[in-house]
Amino acid sequence: MKIGVRVKLLLLLIILIALASGIYAYGIRNNRYIELSYRDFLNHIDEDLVDEVEFNNRAKLKGKLRDGQYFITDNPRTENFKEHLLLYNVNVIEGDNRAIVGQAAGIALILFGIGALAYILNRNSPKQAEKEMAIMSKVDAEGTTSRRITFDDVAGNEEAKDSLKELIDFIGDPEKYNRYGARLPRGVLLYGPPGTGKTLLAKALAGEANVPFYAVSGSDFIQVYAGLGASRIRELFKRAKDSGKSVIFIDEIDALGKKRNASGGSGGSEEADRTLNALLTEMSGFKGNEGIIVMAATNRMDTLDEALLRPGRFDRQIEISLPDVNARLAILELHSKNKPVSRKVDLKNIALETIYFSGAQLENLMNESAMLAARQRADNITMKHINQAYFTVLVGEEKKDRRSITSEDKRITAYHEAGHALVAKKICKDNRVTKVSIIPSTKGMGGFSLNIPPDRMYQTKKDIMNNIMIALGGRAAEELVLGMDNITTGASSDLQKATEMVLSMIGNYGMDDEIGLMNYNVALNSNLDTGTLLMERAKKFLDKLYVETKEVLQCNKEYLDAIAAKLLVEESLSEEELNRILLD
Ligand code: ADP
Ligand code: ZN
Repeated sequence: MKIGVRVKLLLLLIILIALASGIYAYGIRNNRYIELSYRDFLNHIDEDLVDEVEFNNRAKLKGKLRDGQYFITDNPRTENFKEHLLLYNVNVIEGDNRAIVGQAAGIALILFGIGALAYILNRNSPKQAEKEMAIMSKVDAEGTTSRRITFDDVAGNEEAKDSLKELIDFIGDPEKYNRYGARLPRGVLLYGPPGTGKTLLAKALAGEANVPFYAVSGSDFIQVYAGLGASRIRELFKRAKDSGKSVIFIDEIDALGKKRNASGGSGGSEEADRTLNALLTEMSGFKGNEGIIVMAATNRMDTLDEALLRPGRFDRQIEISLPDVNARLAILELHSKNKPVSRKVDLKNIALETIYFSGAQLENLMNESAMLAARQRADNITMKHINQAYFTVLVGEEKKDRRSITSEDKRITAYHEAGHALVAKKICKDNRVTKVSIIPSTKGMGGFSLNIPPDRMYQTKKDIMNNIMIALGGRAAEELVLGMDNITTGASSDLQKATEMVLSMIGNYGMDDEIGLMNYNVALNSNLDTGTLLMERAKKFLDKLYVETKEVLQCNKEYLDAIAAKLLVEESLSEEELNRILLD
């Protein structure tokens, strides 16, 4: 019975489509287009022969002459083309809203038919349709409604907030910046682990600037019907532009912008490629004085297509890291504000015990605690609830009791990172260590970031050797403090970097007396047996530099202890704090 109905429906649809195609074809025949060269077209304009032009952003333009003849010509796509047309008294029709009724109706009918057909055929797997709906409603919903979120709703992340604050003024008054010829920011990329408040920050920026917030997720765009992703992007930008100033947020941008591989193909699907191209086109489409900021988030910075990071695209990149102990306290306080937390609960203590928690997990912790208390109709949220919630939050994330395992891990990490920082500071006065932290970061060596003064064009041999020693500083500190038997796997990427540096130093830059000026890539390509000597020399260099590194740390052991101790308490140290320790 059911099947019978479906077959009938199908038949009806096929008839409908046939009918619609007829109407469409009729429409086309009735208004045949002639092709005008661009030069003829301009002449026609001069002679006032052109009645209307349908303005769009495609390669070809359509229009109508005063005698009723339709034409097609090349679209120059220049800035003041539209103004030019208007000055010459040509009617300009925006977009594709030409009301050729038959044709439009035909197309509409065909589309309806195809849509319905797809729907019928797909009825057994309605997931797709649901997905479609989800994307659209998301774009709709995030307009202006719900409570305005501001930077007060974001705890910690101070550096990120500071750098976003500049943008508030820009969104509010882009003209001001235009007047001074400032290059206007367009895209901001937030990168860091999940749950660290990237979405929250983007919402807060919109809230602070008091403009609408449009959010989509990159993963929503893949697996939609071919071509839909790109039109979604265009739709999204159109909406944003229509509402004037706004913040557009694209979560999980890595789903669209995967690094292309060497063969020129893409790491993602073709659909993702098309969607990405649409995004890039839209972004270069506005001049920046609209007061629209495009923000994107990823926790996979390393897989991102470089095309996304070029000037005029997401050229401002802000790292959002896991919160350190002070930030965790701030986040816990924020999410306790609206909850009856017992006065005996010591949030500072909880902050200490939640290392490696993200903001989202901390929020979750307080929320779970509140749920437990509510279920038990307790007077308020007590330590008992929080302890119980602690394990709920960690379920599925890690089986072990983090509080017992982390203390030794923390100590090792603290010494390792202190080793890097101390070597950097001691061997070269110019080195700036912007931050040391035992919270892992997505970029840089573990939790350690270093700025070599950038104002030099060349690296000297001494610079390279210094960098190798800094890289070896982590392992050297481990050995010094824990003993040879207790060194850890934590240095593996450091060792990789050190090896790369030493190999290019002696193999590419001709900086070793024994190997001399030979370039090893050339030698290897000529099938010369060069491996052994290179190995020997590289190893010798590394060993020598490692001994020197250990000496630096040995001579400054009290500083190493002091930095590690402070790191254990504070989890991260700024450059000033580090310098203060080194002055003592
Ligand atoms: P991301 O986009 O980085 O994955 P979200 O912004 O979606 O993370 O964070 C999820 C939730 O976690 C937020 O809605 C908020 O409740 C909480 N949260 C995360 N980071 C913070 C923070 N820094 N301050 C306050 N709340 C936070
Ligand atoms: Zn390291």
